[in-house]
Amino acid sequence: MFRLALHWQILIGMVVGAAVGTGLNVFAGTATIVISEGLPAGLSRVEIVDTTDGTTFRVVDSDEASRSFVVGHVAVEDASAEVFPSFKELTVREPSIAAIYASQGKTAAHLWGDRFQRLGGLFLRLLKMVAVPLIVTSLASGVLGLGGTASLGRMFSRTLGYYLATSMLAIITGLIFVNLVRPGLGANTMPHAAAANHVAADGLGEVLFSQVEAMIPENPFAALVEPNFLSIIAFTIAFSIFAMLAGGEIAAAVRKGAETGFAVMMAMTTAIIRLAPVGVLFLMASVTATQGLAVFRSLAFYMLAVALALAFHAVVTLPTIVWVFARRSPLAFARAMSPALLTAFSSASSNGTLPLTLSCVEHRAGIRNRTGSFVLPLGATINMDGTALYEAVAVLFIAQLHFGEMLPLSQQIVVAITALLASVGAAGIPHAGLVMMAIILQAVGLPAESQGIILAVDRILDMMRTSVNVWSDSCGCAVIDALEEA
Ligand code: ASP
Repeated sequence: MFRLALHWQILIGMVVGAAVGTGLNVFAGTATIVISEGLPAGLSRVEIVDTTDGTTFRVVDSDEASRSFVVGHVAVEDASAEVFPSFKELTVREPSIAAIYASQGKTAAHLWGDRFQRLGGLFLRLLKMVAVPLIVTSLASGVLGLGGTASLGRMFSRTLGYYLATSMLAIITGLIFVNLVRPGLGANTMPHAAAANHVAADGLGEVLFSQVEAMIPENPFAALVEPNFLSIIAFTIAFSIFAMLAGGEIAAAVRKGAETGFAVMMAMTTAIIRLAPVGVLFLMASVTATQGLAVFRSLAFYMLAVALALAFHAVVTLPTIVWVFARRSPLAFARAMSPALLTAFSSASSNGTLPLTLSCVEHRAGIRNRTGSFVLPLGATINMDGTALYEAVAVLFIAQLHFGEMLPLSQQIVVAITALLASVGAAGIPHAGLVMMAIILQAVGLPAESQGIILAVDRILDMMRTSVNVWSDSCGCAVIDALEEA
């Protein structure tokens, strides 16, 4: 039976969701609702003007005296009106008014937007559900795939050095571009969090030291339950290395266990990703129904920031490294790798592309088999320049939308470090980067739900970043092979 490829399905889900949401937004996005019955004692009338940009309340008591509140970004006509940055704030300070709004004061666009959000939220829950076991098994099987002799140790350190250096370069590129383009500022479509909600910007030393502390979980099982991803990643790497050092049957058994678990988790994640078209449809419908349209203008800039930064890394940074360290023509090398790069683009999966990458490296680029078979499988699991860059740009974009300003430098460093570790932990499958982004959002105090905004455009960005992931693995092969020869 003919079956549409997943990325087309997702695209269709996105367009349908956007159409439904936009329809609601345009035709049912603004309403004036006057409630005069069933109000708490002392109130005679509540007038609500609900729009997609914000909501105005006028509460009239029995003496005809009135108070006004504004939530969101609408022009405040009444100078005495109290302005709340978000509905959360309204719920805390004016619970009875918030309850009236929730039950009777919403436009159809807001009402359906909320319902769609909950339905799409089921898809996000599924992604969160697989995150922890997926990270643990993917990472352990990647590290244990290394084997364990002395010559392997040298290749290991070189490979890790390359991965670390290029991933950091990618993240720095992403940070520079997102600071230049500032895609999330000027959108003004999301209520900005109150200043009190802003993450306290700790000193840099404090921030770095707490990252080191997180890498030494007092109780790894508690870290799994919490979940604290940084602790989980650090412990899994340590566990795998020591299993490798124990060697023999122990290493083999742990490796087998990790690979078995990984295969199952991968199958589960792949199944969940099949639901992406529906999930994206609901989330897209929710966003378009409840947000002013300015957010899409700013998504265009967000996509541009990601695309430009990825292009810079793929076309300038990595080719320079190949040229300097591997003494190869980057252009000829890219041509040799093109089947793998194009497959990576259309499949959005480093793991899926791996057999092709291996064969291109060996048969088309003339790199020794032992280099490729060591560098590439590990790279597909832990070296993800494109993902690391993307995570940094996406989280800073969300932070710009959420806080209405750039994150301070110390927080950007937290983003850089967590993005590096998140990219190490991400599996080489479509949308894995989304699962991992929760770590970084959590690290800078942003709600995981804020991801909803970027989900709609994730597929195309996933295709781009996956090609960069595979391109970086391939360049790593060329560099390590040249170094081994020297
Ligand atoms: N899809 C990417 C990969 O396979 C991972 C990600 O979602 O960033 O390399």
